[in-house]
Amino acid sequence: MASSSLSEEELTLTVKWSGNEYTVRVCGDDSVGELKRRICQLTNVLPKRQKLLYPKLGSKLADDSVLLSHLPLKPSLKMTMIGTVEDDIIVDQVDSPEIIDDFELGQDESTDIKDKEVNKQKLRRRIYQYKIELRNPCREGKKLLVLDIDYTLFDHRSTAENPLELMRPYLHEFLSAVYAEYDIIIWSATSMKWVELKMGQLGVLNNPNYKITALLDHLAMITVHSDSRGPFDCKPLGLIWGQFPEFYSSKNTIMFDDLRRNFVMNPQNGLTIKPFRKAHANRDSDQELVKLTQYLLAIAELDDLSSLNHKNWESYNEDNFKRRRHS
Ligand SMILES: [Mg+2]
Repeated sequence: MASSSLSEEELTLTVKWSGNEYTVRVCGDDSVGELKRRICQLTNVLPKRQKLLYPKLGSKLADDSVLLSHLPLKPSLKMTMIGTVEDDIIVDQVDSPEIIDDFELGQDESTDIKDKEVNKQKLRRRIYQYKIELRNPCREGKKLLVLDIDYTLFDHRSTAENPLELMRPYLHEFLSAVYAEYDIIIWSATSMKWVELKMGQLGVLNNPNYKITALLDHLAMITVHSDSRGPFDCKPLGLIWGQFPEFYSSKNTIMFDDLRRNFVMNPQNGLTIKPFRKAHANRDSDQELVKLTQYLLAIAELDDLSSLNHKNWESYNEDNFKRRRHS
């Protein structure tokens, strides 16, 4: 195991690609996968398209889970990247890896990941490195809803002539209704080109009844390590809170994702949504977004959302219904 001082140490690497040199700042506790994301940010070559070459390292750079502190990298040596920018976005869809089944981390392990200094440091660096571009201004007094795309709003694994057939039912009704109380940010573990294309096709970016505050992509994620599952990526809401502290915080933010592990840095703010798969079979029966509209509007009255246990959202809806009937 690397010592913590070594793993938190900043590394400045020079990467050569296509006749240019790029400076990449990472730390020892970052993985090769994370390094590829930083290179992607500079070159637009997607991580899965990158092949990294470095003297004497051979195939070690082919394993995305290897920590940089475990590799003998020297600032004096340059890395070479081979890869081409994705022109055909459709290729991205076909190639996108099947999402690994969600896994539950133990309570202790989750707390540990959230509180680890090295992860807090990664978050601070991400706040500094990843600039969120607002499509529409943040609104005073509104709460914040952060939404995943794949299997949350859209079934990206089924095929259809028209992408609208793969959209989760009631998506526009849901967004229109919750927009009254929430700013909406969409955060997907894919590339920004893909996020924009997909949301554009579904008509989410130009709907007259709601506005999207911002789109975030895979480059905004951080890699953390769990003892039981090894490295994995997550979506730290602290990135948004750090850039818009006057509007958003742990008290007024809720995030929907079908993968619980994406919440590991902020478990109190995540709601695990039932995945929307097999769109053709399920699009007539799926009511999740209708029920979640009720939940979001009911809890919007509260000053502090972080005291709720979103695992119990369905019973909150029922209790709320009873309360209303009796009053
Ligand atoms: Mg998903």
